[in-house]
Amino acid sequence: MTKTLNTDPSCMDDFDPNSLTVDQARNKIHESISAVDGIESVAIRSSLGRTLASPILSPIDVPSHTNSAMDGYAVNSHDLPATGHKTLSVCGTAFAGHPLELELSAGQCARIMTGAMLPAGTDTIIMQEHVERDGDSITIDGRNKAGQHVRQAGEDLATGQTVLEAGRLITPADLGLMASLGIAEVQVRRRLRVAFFSTGDELRSIGQPLETGQIYDSNRYTLYGALTSLGVDILDMGVIPDDRQLIEQAFEHAAENADAMITTGGVSVGEADFVKETLDKLGQVGFWKISMKPGRPLSFGKVGKANFFGLPGNPVSAMVTFYQIVLPALNAMMGKSDVEAITIQARCISPLKKSAGRVEFQRGILEQDAQGQMVVRSTGHQGSHILRSMSQANCFIILPLESPGTAVDEMVTVQPFYGLF
Ligand code: AMP
Ligand code: MG
Repeated sequence: MTKTLNTDPSCMDDFDPNSLTVDQARNKIHESISAVDGIESVAIRSSLGRTLASPILSPIDVPSHTNSAMDGYAVNSHDLPATGHKTLSVCGTAFAGHPLELELSAGQCARIMTGAMLPAGTDTIIMQEHVERDGDSITIDGRNKAGQHVRQAGEDLATGQTVLEAGRLITPADLGLMASLGIAEVQVRRRLRVAFFSTGDELRSIGQPLETGQIYDSNRYTLYGALTSLGVDILDMGVIPDDRQLIEQAFEHAAENADAMITTGGVSVGEADFVKETLDKLGQVGFWKISMKPGRPLSFGKVGKANFFGLPGNPVSAMVTFYQIVLPALNAMMGKSDVEAITIQARCISPLKKSAGRVEFQRGILEQDAQGQMVVRSTGHQGSHILRSMSQANCFIILPLESPGTAVDEMVTVQPFYGLF
C-alpha cells in the first residue's frame, strides 16, 4: 500500500493561503481591545513614561510677562532714529525677577537683562553690543526695529490653550513644560498589569542543573526586559510544564490578576491542540498563522477579561512577535496615541536571502558610513532559535511579502530598535 504524506501547510512552507498578514493580525487585535480604564493623579515626576489621561490646559500665560530676550537696553520705539544717532539717558536697571518699577518717558531708557520684565513705557530692546555707552547715557543708531528682542506675554502659550493631549506618553521635556506652568499633579492612566509564563517540559530556570535535552528558559527574561522598558506592572509566573492541570491553573490565575497575559511556546502544531483545549474551555482564543518570519504561529483572544497572546517558543520568534504584534496592542491598552514605529530606508551592504510569501523581520546592524549615510548589514545566521542575532542587532530589516531578497547595495526598510526597546 502506498503511504499518503500529509500536505497541510507547515511552518516551513513559503506561502499559506489560510494565513493572515501582519497588518490583518494587528487590525483584528486592535478591534477587540480597548484602553484600560482607571485614572490616577500623580505628582508630575511620577508621570514620566505614563500615559496622560486628560489633556493639560495652560493655567497661565507663558511667558507670564513681556520680557527681554537679550542683555541690553529697553527703549520706546518712538525714540528709535530712522537715520543718524540718538542719545538716551539710562534711568535704572531691570533684572530677571527684579523689575524696574518706573514709567519711562521719551528720551529715557533702562539697562535690562535677559528675562527681565520690560519697564512701563518701553517696547523694544537694543542689544548691548549695538550701543555706545557713556556714563548715564547711551547712543543708538538706525539699525534697530520697533519691538525687537522682546518676548510677548502669552506668546508661547495663552491661558486655556492645550499644552499636552490625552494619550501622550510623558517625556522629560513634558515634565519641564508642566513645571513651567506650575502644575504639580497630572492625571495618568493606571499602569497596565501583564502576566507571563513560559511553557515547555524542556525548560529549566537559572540555578537548576540541565539534564540531557533540557534548556534554560530565556523567553521569560526577554519578556521581563521588554515589559519593564514599556513601564507596565509585571507578574512573572515562571515556567509551567506541559501539564494539563497546571496550565489551566496558570491561565486562570493570570486571567484573574492581569489585563493581559503572554505565554511563549506551545502554540505550534503538535502542542497547539493541548493548549487549545484549555483555552477553549476558559475563553475565546484564535490560533492564527501569520505570514511573517520568524513567528508564524500565534494565538490571540480573551481568557476571562484578560487579553491573551500566545507567542511561539523559539526565542527570536517570541521577540519578533512581541515587538511586531503584541507591543502595538499593549500600547493601545495603555491608552497611548501616536505610537507608530519609525522606519527608515538604508543601503544594505549584505545580500539578503528571503523566501517568498511572508514578511521577514531580519536582524540587522544599522550604522553610518564614512560619508554619513545610513547603511545596514545582516547579523548573519537568521535562525529563529539564535537569540544572539537579536542581541547583536540594533534594528529589524523588514523585507516585504513580495520581496525575493536583496542584492548588495539595495535600499531596504529598517526599523531601529531605538525607541522600540
Ligand atoms: P514551541 O513553540 O513550544 O514548540 O517551542 C519551539 C522551540 O523553542 C523549541 O526548541 C523550544 O525548546 C524552544 N523554547 C520554547 N520556549 C522557550 C523558552 N522559554 N526559552 C527558550 N527556548 C524556548
Ligand atoms: Mg514547547
